[in-house]
Amino acid sequence: MSDIRVVRAETVDTIADIPVVVIGGGGTGLCAALAVRDADVDVLVIERDSQTMGTTAMSTGLIPGTGSAIQRAKGIDDTAELFASDIANKAKGAVDKGLVAHLAAQSGQTIDWLADQHGLDLSLVEGFTYPGHSALRMHGMPSRSGSELMGALASACEDAGVDILTDSLVDTLYVNEAGKVIAVAATRPDGESDIIGCGALILACCGFAGNQAMVNELIPELEHATFHGHPGNKGHAIAWGRELGAALADLSAYQGHAGLAAGYGIPILWPLITEGGIQVNRQGQRFSNEAAGYSEQAVEVLRQEGHVAWSIFDEARHQIMTQFDDYQQAMSAGCLHSASNLSELAQKIGVDGEGLAASVAETHALIENEERDRFGRSFAGKSPLSAPFYAVKVTGALFHTQGGLEVDENARVLRADRSPMPNLYAGGGAARGISGPGADGYMAGNGLLTATTLGRLAGQHAASCVVTA
Ligand SMILES: Cc1cc2nc3c(=O)[nH]c(=O)nc-3n(C[C@H](O)[C@H](O)[C@H](O)COP(=O)(O)OP(=O)(O)OC[C@H]3O[C@@H](n4cnc5c(N)ncnc54)[C@H](O)[C@@H]3O)c2cc1C
Repeated sequence: MSDIRVVRAETVDTIADIPVVVIGGGGTGLCAALAVRDADVDVLVIERDSQTMGTTAMSTGLIPGTGSAIQRAKGIDDTAELFASDIANKAKGAVDKGLVAHLAAQSGQTIDWLADQHGLDLSLVEGFTYPGHSALRMHGMPSRSGSELMGALASACEDAGVDILTDSLVDTLYVNEAGKVIAVAATRPDGESDIIGCGALILACCGFAGNQAMVNELIPELEHATFHGHPGNKGHAIAWGRELGAALADLSAYQGHAGLAAGYGIPILWPLITEGGIQVNRQGQRFSNEAAGYSEQAVEVLRQEGHVAWSIFDEARHQIMTQFDDYQQAMSAGCLHSASNLSELAQKIGVDGEGLAASVAETHALIENEERDRFGRSFAGKSPLSAPFYAVKVTGALFHTQGGLEVDENARVLRADRSPMPNLYAGGGAARGISGPGADGYMAGNGLLTATTLGRLAGQHAASCVVTA
């Protein structure tokens, strides 16, 4: 990554000086920018693409929030402590517990702030909880899509007077002897570069999932994974952090997904599994506890013949899934198969019929006998899979990486000695996540919790610092 650099300088000629500059126009960047404008401070978001989309626009856009007005109005029994312990338990305790407690406590305020102050049409996702969550706390836009979330954030930014410079890749940070970032250089597609001065800098340029060399080095288990994230996420925040002596952690952590429709690139979301669906290999056999989590299950799918598996479900789970935009797309694209009995389904999808019948029969027996299977999965409370049956061929995917720069409760980047850098912030995929070091620590919502809440906190703190400076 030779084009990404830090230049040491006390002064530099700039074309403009902006109090707060944000690198990256995804969910983190736009939330940070909104929080800066709330304080009536000028902010510039610099985005390499021609539109502000990022991974956030590819996502389902579900943001966890405990204690939001929306959640309280539904009478959901939840607390920040419960949410924090869910996050820590999923990551087997290998998280910055102070930061997790702080993010859980702030999560509801972020939802209220987005809904009340910035007009986002968020509602509570009901009907199922994702693995690891003890309460209904996911909030989403009406279509449950990240593109709708990004559209709403972009329109809120326009209303708030956020300046956005697109088609500009930031490649250089200018840093003085005191460790303050004084300017950035952004290069346009024609090769011309602008140097822009800043009072504070927020890194909102996500992780390194789009940088195959870094993925190979830091997450070798994903060698055969399909990348289904944003190509702009090249690890720039980590490269700058390394040069600046920032503390970095959990670089092996990531959000994987075991339900990417093979050959179609459409994510088939996990309620289909958590509500009683299963995954089988070409022999029709189950191979793991699918309900443990979609991220860790990606590696299990990648271990199967051809690095693929088939998600098997029925009409009842199909109906639950129709609320999701992605699933509607999957239906239109033709990647779902259905049949009135299992042997016909097996024939259609090229899976061993006897194996599939035995796998489904086993789940029926587990439900009836109220037993756990050999992988530790319980089907308690689920209705047995019954005709008509559905199947979709899936592979394991990498969505985004979770490791990054360590930050404090105001999203300030920390040095190796835990002291905060003078005016550098990070959030979302650029910051160390809350998922521990491996795939099994990722709990649904961890991505957008750190994007929206760390983004908001970074923007608030950066704005207050440049005002008092
Ligand atoms: C299919 C899918 C579904 C998901 N669903 C959910 C969900 O429901 N809930 C959840 O919590 N998480 C979900 N996630 C994860 C979530 O989308 C991410 O954690 C989150 O979007 C990260 O936000 P971000 O702002 O850090 O990064 P991004 O949204 O990727 O934004 C980073 C931006 O920075 C830009 N950039 C990078 N480098 C530079 C540079 N040097 N100069 C200028 N610009 C630069 C990029 O072009 C990009 O636009 C999902 C992810 C995927 C792929």
